[in-house]
Amino acid sequence: MSKPIQAINRYKADLREVNFLLFEQFKLGELLGKAPFEAWGEDEVRTSLTECYRWCREVVGPLNATADAQGCKLENGAVKTPDGFKAAWKSLYEAGWKSIAVDPHYGGAGAPHSLQVMIEELLSGANTAFGMYAGLAYGAAEVIEIFGTQEQKELYCQRMFSGKWGGTMCLTEPQAGSDVGASKSVATKNADGTYTIRGTKIFISGGDHDLAENIVHLVLARVEGAPAGTKGLTLFIVPKIRANADGSLGESNDVSVGAIEHKMGINGSATCVLNFGENGKCIGVPVGGDAKLNQGMPQMFKMMNGARIAVGVQGISVASSAFLNAIEYAKERKQGASITHWKDATAPRVPIIEHADVRRMLLDMKARVEGIRALAVKLAHHQDRVRALEGKDEAGVAYHQGQVDLLVPLVKAYGSDQGFRVCETAIQTYGGAGYTRDYPVEQYCRDAKIFSIYEGTNHIQAMDLVGRKLGQAGGANMQAFVGDIQKFVAANSTHPVIGPAVKKLGSAAETLGGNAMRLLMWFQSGQMGLVPLYANRFLEMMSETAVAWLLLEGAAIAHEKKKTVAAGHPDESFYAGKIAAALYYAKNVLPGVEDKARILAEEDKSALEIPDAGFATV
Ligand SMILES: Cc1cc2nc3c(=O)[nH]c(=O)nc-3n(C[C@H](O)[C@H](O)[C@H](O)COP(=O)(O)OP(=O)(O)OC[C@H]3O[C@@H](n4cnc5c(N)ncnc54)[C@H](O)[C@@H]3O)c2cc1C
Repeated sequence: MSKPIQAINRYKADLREVNFLLFEQFKLGELLGKAPFEAWGEDEVRTSLTECYRWCREVVGPLNATADAQGCKLENGAVKTPDGFKAAWKSLYEAGWKSIAVDPHYGGAGAPHSLQVMIEELLSGANTAFGMYAGLAYGAAEVIEIFGTQEQKELYCQRMFSGKWGGTMCLTEPQAGSDVGASKSVATKNADGTYTIRGTKIFISGGDHDLAENIVHLVLARVEGAPAGTKGLTLFIVPKIRANADGSLGESNDVSVGAIEHKMGINGSATCVLNFGENGKCIGVPVGGDAKLNQGMPQMFKMMNGARIAVGVQGISVASSAFLNAIEYAKERKQGASITHWKDATAPRVPIIEHADVRRMLLDMKARVEGIRALAVKLAHHQDRVRALEGKDEAGVAYHQGQVDLLVPLVKAYGSDQGFRVCETAIQTYGGAGYTRDYPVEQYCRDAKIFSIYEGTNHIQAMDLVGRKLGQAGGANMQAFVGDIQKFVAANSTHPVIGPAVKKLGSAAETLGGNAMRLLMWFQSGQMGLVPLYANRFLEMMSETAVAWLLLEGAAIAHEKKKTVAAGHPDESFYAGKIAAALYYAKNVLPGVEDKARILAEEDKSALEIPDAGFATV
């Protein structure tokens, strides 16, 4: 008989580290207490994090493994979510965690993005599958808030931000995955101005559930006669149950669940096949009305940006808990003697944290987790600065928005890739125990794999970076990014502790700039095939440079702060840990930038030149 799965919390977060990033490194305090964050002070931010973490451990953390084991069920055409999700949903919205950054007009607390992104890390890390239902409702509501007509905003936004109604994002079809423009869903105009929707969407997260009284699907479809490809797609609001203008519910809207997927991870999240209009009675309206026909992709991009950041944060969230659980295990598990007594069979067994290779894995995980988190907080920090400067400083807004645009593919792709790899390293740290369900890391690893696939595979992110983002604003955003690194290098290259590592960062930034030019040269000299071949590598080079920069910046701050800490205070080792992680990353990961540059310079085309039949003889 297999062991029962217990409803106990195993989620761990390091709030000292989160507060360091927010207040010591990114100086969130400078923005608090002033428009548009006048209601927020440092105490409110710190208390929110503490309280949200408590809520996560008490309410959704205990449901993570049980929901994974139980999964979702499709019964009589309706999805039943795992035990405990309904009560957790109610509790989530009562506590207000999901609406913390929502405009107060729609019932939110108007918090800075920097806080929101860390709250999201807690919610997602404690129970990724549960977090997805609310995440999609939030993202869909945000699209209506930005692009909807006044009437649509009033009908949908508050209800969706408050969890009364759920939401989804319906792009994928069997023949239209990465190739979104191949969508075959159609919309036919009715005499009353609405549209009849017909089509099948697959892999729709939260496509149906029993948590909210209605679900608002945002569906990409083509109005009959519209252009082919992405240019002819319109985004439709298609509720599961038709809604009257006063919010009361009418009849069912002919949206049915064809099936739910059996998956590797995030088993508590229902991934649905949705059939729209099997009986010709599915009604939708374009987001923003008829004036916004064929604007589906630009509108979706808005949602995708938020969703892409959220997916990067999902990667950070499980990686962080995997790392923190691995430390606990490594301190308890005794195995083998110290290397200094390797010939003595009677030498005492030591906790595995004393073994060099385990320490290497722990520090590797620490550096990657803290680095990708710093990247996400940096992005959110730029978003907050945009909001603070809007209407006051156009150049400042352009600079910060440019950095947001540039960092989105890095946070999504590097955050999700590294998140998965950290979970895998956590399993290795545990040994065999990590491979079993007695510990949380095997679930984290299964849950984390999807992050590099959905919301646009990581190759799609890399192409977004090299094909769109590098050249945006005539290349000014990328120049500003490299310029910011060079300023840090100039100020810190003679630092007594991190100076040599900072110099390495300077060379990496120069190499990165040179390789951005190499990509441009490939574009311009007709060597287009090389661009997608090396796009992922370039994204990795840029992410590694950015992470090294942010870790070293944190280390420089930690070095100063450490001098002021009383001996024996926990902050002494906290700051020492920050310095060690930065030096480790700079010496063990950052050199990869130069290696990759050498690989790009080779212009190897083996993967393009090998005949299809040459891959294998079967
Ligand atoms: C659990 C789960 C939840 C999901 N949730 C949602 C959701 O809520 N809403 C939604 O709309 N979709 C959702 N998806 C779908 C998801 O976004 C797609 O799976 C993803 O975009 C990739 O599409 P695909 O699976 O068709 O793969 P494909 O597009 O077939 O890609 C297969 C491989 O080919 C590569 N590839 C494809 N095209 C190119 C190209 N032009 N150049 C180079 N390489 C290429 C890809 O990078 C990938 O490696 C979900 C999927 C899963 C598994």
